[in-house]
Amino acid sequence: MTAGIESSTRWPTIRKHPLALQVQPNLLDYDATCAAFSWDAARSELSGPPDGRGVNIAYEAVDRHANGAGGAKEALRFVRADGTTHSLSYAQLAERTSRFASVLRELGIGRGDRVFSLAGRSPELYTAVLGTLKNASVFCPLFSAFGPEPVRQRLQLGGGRVLITTRALYRKKIVPIRDELPELRHVLLIDAGDEPEPGTLDLATLMQDAPPYGEIAMTQREDMALLHFTSGTTGTPKGAIHVHDAVTAHYATGRFALDLHPDDIYWCTADPGWVTGTSYGVIAPLVHGVTVIVDEEEMNTDRWYRILAEQGVTVWYTAPTALRMLMKAGTERAADYDLSALRFVASVGEPLNPEVVVWGQEAFGQPVHDNWWQTETGGIMISNYAATEIRPGSMGRPLPGIAADLVARDEQGAPLLRDGEVVLVTEPDTVGELALRPGWPSMFRGYLNEEERYRRCFVGGWYLTGDLAKRDADGYYWFVGRGDDVIKSSGHLIGPFEVESSLMEHAAVAEAGVIGIPDAVAGEVVKAFVELRAGWEPSDSLRLDIIGFARKRLGAAVAPRELEFTTGLPKTRSGKILRRLLKARELGLPEGDTSTVEVPR
Ligand code: ATP
Ligand code: MG
Repeated sequence: MTAGIESSTRWPTIRKHPLALQVQPNLLDYDATCAAFSWDAARSELSGPPDGRGVNIAYEAVDRHANGAGGAKEALRFVRADGTTHSLSYAQLAERTSRFASVLRELGIGRGDRVFSLAGRSPELYTAVLGTLKNASVFCPLFSAFGPEPVRQRLQLGGGRVLITTRALYRKKIVPIRDELPELRHVLLIDAGDEPEPGTLDLATLMQDAPPYGEIAMTQREDMALLHFTSGTTGTPKGAIHVHDAVTAHYATGRFALDLHPDDIYWCTADPGWVTGTSYGVIAPLVHGVTVIVDEEEMNTDRWYRILAEQGVTVWYTAPTALRMLMKAGTERAADYDLSALRFVASVGEPLNPEVVVWGQEAFGQPVHDNWWQTETGGIMISNYAATEIRPGSMGRPLPGIAADLVARDEQGAPLLRDGEVVLVTEPDTVGELALRPGWPSMFRGYLNEEERYRRCFVGGWYLTGDLAKRDADGYYWFVGRGDDVIKSSGHLIGPFEVESSLMEHAAVAEAGVIGIPDAVAGEVVKAFVELRAGWEPSDSLRLDIIGFARKRLGAAVAPRELEFTTGLPKTRSGKILRRLLKARELGLPEGDTSTVEVPR
């Protein structure tokens, strides 16, 4: 087995602030909470549209509040470039989303038809997400920074009938590919203005002319609601299908993993072009009736601190790459802002280095709560809780209603089978593939048009996630690496995350990406790509110093043999380090699917 990740002993467990204990006292007893939970009970806490007509995500997120006492409450608060804000109340959002559903109906777009978006974080985008669902159509967000090729690929694969976008994005990205998209019937422009753009419709005019109210189309739990493309970290992105019942999971996980309460001012920094930005940037918080902050601009350190302070954000959901950037800028920066309203910080998307969890306490007065999930799982699966202790470097424990385990692997890395059954890892701190028992509501129901790829994800009744992890004796899960990223060196299985986290403890290191490169003796050895913090310059002596530092912590077998300084690690547009690309470049191999690369060479 691998030279183990010793983070659980090196980084002390964080016991919580008394406030966290007040907000979720019921969760203090993890086992009791899990035992008491059932998905049916969670379903019954949501009301469903009147007269028992099925379940619809948009109804739970908007109309349920708008019809009740919450109509005047601020649902979405948009922060403009200059820091001023404009808002939509739950009642306004209900009206607009109903109008949007009417617009679709008038255009002949109906049940199951795919409506895509390619737009920044504007009110129209949020209206489109929820309005599409009200019409029983399927919503598929695209990230606005995609180039024409990834846009074409996804629109074609998804059979997009309608696209909501802006004039500039239309000209730049759709005009060159429009001829290749015969199924795309309508393009609705958010900012059409007075000058008509050939081949498009003006969304504002259509909205004005549409009937403001109409019945929410009846949808059943298993009706397709959302199509989400994965980040493409390991290869060609897959279109994961999600259904209306997913809202039950968004609701339950919003409570358990994000500690949402109706009075919260909540901010999720993920773009709605990704699953996190939809599931936890739109649906989960609105289902809980909170006020959601939407930043209309792009990330920059001071702006983010300012938003946290000026908007009085109480619950913040962000990503390791953003937190590492804030950390790189220095803790002093945080001290310039009043972050006293902030009571809960969570992170997802990549492994969260223990260094960052602990830094969060200094910067925000709160440790950062890591949680794990995937586009396929549709919602958070494993999490550190508001009310229980945190083990820095661990993803936490499975949420109530989620059965997780580790499947043992054979020499080739395939699931180990005995008498046709998968073998589960029983020893603590032993690596296996993270697996989940299907049956939670936000579980994906397929990869669109890729039946075989979907089927391959299941073995012996388990959904295999493709990620490797360990579990300690108390049931906390520790991420090791993506199955494809782990490094085999002289019989050791090395997780890149472990090495990257150790490198980050060196004062000079801001971020690191680690891969295996072929070695005649060891099979593979570790090579690290390192980005330095402000004020540090690459040099041979610094390289040796960092390698020596890693050796002391990890041992010579696991520490990087080679280290290269870089000024920008390649990342997916959703912010994940692309180790497969580092490796392909290092070995001079084809780069594969690069449609979601953020920092091209
Ligand atoms: P693709 O499936 O196309 O390769 P992707 O897996 O990056 O892309 P996502 O669904 O956006 O697409 O990401 C989910 C993956 O991100 C997880 O399987 C895991 O590898 C990683 N991940 C997410 N959260 C965490 C976390 N808290 N700790 C470690 N890894 C995480
Ligand atoms: Mg994946």
